[in-house]
Amino acid sequence: MEIGVSLERALEIVSQLTMKTTSETLPLEQASGRILSEDIASKVDDPRFDNSAMDGWAVRMTDCSDFSTKLRVVGTSQAGSHQIPTVGVGEACSIMTGAPIPEGADAIVIIEESSYQDGFVTINGPARSGFIRRKGENLQEGVVALNSGTLLTPAGISLAATMGYGHLSVTTRPKIAVIGVGDELTSPGKPLDAGSIYESNTFGLSSLVEKMGAIPKRYDLIRDNIDSLRDALDEASESCDAIITSGGVSMGKWDLVRRIMEEEGHIRFWKILIRPGGPPLFGLWGGTPIFGLPGNPVSSHVVFTVLVAPWISESMGSGQSIGSRLANRVRVLMEEPIKGAPGKLCMRRISIRLEGDILVASTKTHQGSGNIHSLVAHNGLSLLPPDTDCDAGELVDALWLQY
Ligand code: AMP
Ligand code: MG
Repeated sequence: MEIGVSLERALEIVSQLTMKTTSETLPLEQASGRILSEDIASKVDDPRFDNSAMDGWAVRMTDCSDFSTKLRVVGTSQAGSHQIPTVGVGEACSIMTGAPIPEGADAIVIIEESSYQDGFVTINGPARSGFIRRKGENLQEGVVALNSGTLLTPAGISLAATMGYGHLSVTTRPKIAVIGVGDELTSPGKPLDAGSIYESNTFGLSSLVEKMGAIPKRYDLIRDNIDSLRDALDEASESCDAIITSGGVSMGKWDLVRRIMEEEGHIRFWKILIRPGGPPLFGLWGGTPIFGLPGNPVSSHVVFTVLVAPWISESMGSGQSIGSRLANRVRVLMEEPIKGAPGKLCMRRISIRLEGDILVASTKTHQGSGNIHSLVAHNGLSLLPPDTDCDAGELVDALWLQY
């Protein structure tokens, strides 16, 4: 077991254990946000035939070297039409966007640069071959255009449809147990005893898991009792692909997740050199990867964002990190000084906004790791290197959170 690792080392260690996912076939309309699990080649050329990019006239370029040329109109080519007239010398064919280029024509004159009278069109502008969209210039039949591991964004779904796919093979959504531990916790909506607080982490973490495209399985709250914790972990490792716990990983006598993992599980690391979110552990419970996240709500969210999210993304076989949906690194100018942390990467909650052409950032609320409001009131996290403070007016790396 390693104790007190950098975030980079923690990411390296977790990447050694991945979840097993398989594939399933889904109708295209259900595949958005999923990860493609095979390379797919286009079933068609796109465009399927040379067609016009503009409404106008299909002409022969050599007929149009002079403006005011008059051409005899031989018919119309519409999108979807089958019988297209041929364009001979001195002739033009009316053409709509997307319609096939008639034989004989090699350029388009746009409608705005023409006038029509009595079966003849007068050409008042240039004939452009660039307005012909060539067969196969976007996609060629048989050529792979979407690779296994691609996150299916709306544009990806559209591309798959263009290529002729009504169904896609995608990786299955892993099931992730979310277990909250603590005697003081009460589910929201229930009456509170003296000394108890509303529990929030299992809700927040489940919705983070869901955002990653995985399926959260939220457990009933576990009291600080080692036997109930063991039962829950056993059940979770049987029924889920990974386990996330919240609470009970610090140094206290009642930090039972750490204790049970020390005594009965396999810990790969404990504590990361970050603030907030220092105490997490990672390891295996009965062969199932387990992340023991801290109980403080901000800490558990932040550790999920910087550690668990990229791991889920990688485990699901995504080439491009889905985590980048949650977190994009940018350079921001701090409007006020922020304090770093000795020996730790410091992730202060900051508000990032564009001012002129630079990103500036400021802090608003109390920064305590118990204050979940700080993650609602801000949209970013500073990435202050260990032992570094930031003065007002200085540039600092930051994660721009996009949930
Ligand atoms: P722990 O890691 O168990 O020492 O908890 C650290 C702090 O986080 C304590 O103030 C707990 O009350 C709080 N906490 C623990 N679990 C949760 C939870 N599921 N929801 C909200 N706060 C929690
Ligand atoms: Mg606790």
